[in-house]
Amino acid sequence: MDSMDTFVVNVSRLVRRPGSTRQVTLAGQVEPALDQVERCGPVKAELRLEAMAGGVWVCGVACAEMLLRCNRCLSRISFKAEAPVRQAYGKDESEDMPAIGQDGDIDLSGLLHDELCLSVPLVPLCSEACRGLCPVCGADRNEGSCQGHSESRESPFATLEALLEVPFETA
Ligand SMILES: [Zn+2]
Ligand SMILES: [Zn+2]
Repeated sequence: MDSMDTFVVNVSRLVRRPGSTRQVTLAGQVEPALDQVERCGPVKAELRLEAMAGGVWVCGVACAEMLLRCNRCLSRISFKAEAPVRQAYGKDESEDMPAIGQDGDIDLSGLLHDELCLSVPLVPLCSEACRGLCPVCGADRNEGSCQGHSESRESPFATLEALLEVPFETA
């Protein structure tokens, strides 16, 4: 799949000259694995790659326009995700950092995905004052389409309450 390769950068030339830098702009698609994200537009990452002793340092920022869902009323909210990216890649396999591939490639897709996910609010709200959906009829209470419900009629306990009001004369 093409889209999976768009975040792969070859750094084999760069790493041969420690201290040298390279600026890259990458664009592609990620699929945020988050319930609150309904859609994620193209991701753009502006990154600076710096050759350091033992590997490459990647830093910059990734952005994407997203459509989130309000946690209370489920309406759509447009959200501009902006995530800092900071990651080192080592020439050799190590526990501290991911390694540059044998062919000199580093695949940034997982990193960009994770950083963008972290920038998404856990509980998105269309507004702090969102009144959510009516638990009885499901209407959006922000729109005032629910006129309210007479509690005693709707409540499954209504009949029970009525029974309890009858004095226990026969007891
Ligand atoms: Zn809402
Ligand atoms: Zn209602």
